[in-house]
Amino acid sequence: MKHSISTARPLPSITLNDVGGLQEEMKEEILQTLSILKEPERSEKLGIKPPKGVLLYGPPGTGKTLLAQAITKELNANFFSTSGSAFNEMFIGVGAARIRSLFQAARKQKPAVIFIDEVDALAGKRKQHGGEEGEKTLTELLVQLDGGHDNDGILFIAATNRKDMLDEAFLRPGRIDFSFQVPLPDTKGRREIISIHAKGKQMAPDVLASLDGLAESTSGFSGAEISSLFETASRRALRGGQDMINKEDMDYAIDRTILGTSSRMLNDQ
Ligand code: ATP
Repeated sequence: MKHSISTARPLPSITLNDVGGLQEEMKEEILQTLSILKEPERSEKLGIKPPKGVLLYGPPGTGKTLLAQAITKELNANFFSTSGSAFNEMFIGVGAARIRSLFQAARKQKPAVIFIDEVDALAGKRKQHGGEEGEKTLTELLVQLDGGHDNDGILFIAATNRKDMLDEAFLRPGRIDFSFQVPLPDTKGRREIISIHAKGKQMAPDVLASLDGLAESTSGFSGAEISSLFETASRRALRGGQDMINKEDMDYAIDRTILGTSSRMLNDQ
């Protein structure tokens, strides 16, 4: 289903526990941020200003979008989302108008989270920015982020793979109050992500017994790649007429995922 960016998107019921591999410190900070946002009045009485904007940065497929969705669910908020790349090559004024209507729609449906993925395409350094139209869209985003009390009850979350590309004006506190790095998972993180994606899937005993080893042997895999590995294995099991994933399905899925990753790396070169 196609959504307009001014329409709240329905989300599956996910929680922070569905995001694996988060560093303890980061989890702690996110939980603190959530408790401030859940009780803005009490927080203000204690002199704590509720954060307005959060940046999630890290390599593709590490769960930034998933985390934004989990935060939205934890806040019981409406989710408005778009991608910075959707603003490329727009006619003069159209990008700015879309940003305005995105914020207006969210203000009508508070509490709300506005999520912009690939925000570097929208809030890149001005010098490198795509011409007059790109400049106008970014200026409008900054104006909307500075909306003062109109933005109470709205949390802005931006995600990028390229934090170094972002305009400093965009990163200013009051616009972006916290930046969280979401890196590729380490072995422990991959084990958590494996558990999340293995949940509810029937597996042969030798596959179940090999999940620790899988975490060890998938160094460099993102959460998205681990998720796709399990999907590939499930599909192969289905095609094979089985009702559980066996060792051959897993081996096939690992080979396919490694192949996909290496051909992507070759294409990126
Ligand atoms: P991009 O930078 O390419 O937009 P992203 O960091 O936003 O990627 P997601 O879109 O959140 O990554 O990840 C895609 C899917 O991969 C998720 O819906 C989820 O199924 C799985 N996944 C990714 N990271 C994790 C994680 N940390 N824990 C559990 N599942 C994950």
